[in-house]
Amino acid sequence: MILPGHVAAAYLATRLLHTDRLGTFAACMFPDLVDKPVRWLLRRTPNDRIPAHTALAWALTTAAVWRWRGTDCARGWLAGYGVHLACDEVNAHRNPGRLYLWWPLKRYEMHVGPTGLQSSLADFRPASLAVEGALTLLAAAIWLASDDDAATIRTRASSDMRGARHASS
Ligand SMILES: [Zn+2]
Repeated sequence: MILPGHVAAAYLATRLLHTDRLGTFAACMFPDLVDKPVRWLLRRTPNDRIPAHTALAWALTTAAVWRWRGTDCARGWLAGYGVHLACDEVNAHRNPGRLYLWWPLKRYEMHVGPTGLQSSLADFRPASLAVEGALTLLAAAIWLASDDDAATIRTRASSDMRGARHASS
């Protein structure tokens, strides 16, 4: 998946699992923030799904977050990372490339590609974009219907407008 799907999935994880938002949202993008530059810029790996899209990276980073930020943030990280890998696994059955979850403990015949944003997006087939769109719309609908999340934004926006009117008068 790409950004909207990963953010939507992280949001749904915080709603369903009541996990720490910072940990969940930080982890929801972490594997891509590591693996895409390693592949796209440095060309050190055969594809953009290693080394961070693996159980080893998931476990090591969760342990590091637990030591650094405590249990709540680590639970959020664990959930956000897991949701990212699950979304990419769903996607991997609709597009070229796979997850190599047990790398480097298991040998895989690896997919070679993509080398940048354009070639990465070119790998997306309509079925995976439909899944991404549906997940994003579901999260947006739940967010808009949620009393606490959407109301916080509405309250902030209206107080900003009152402040702007007050400042201009
Ligand atoms: Zn990913």
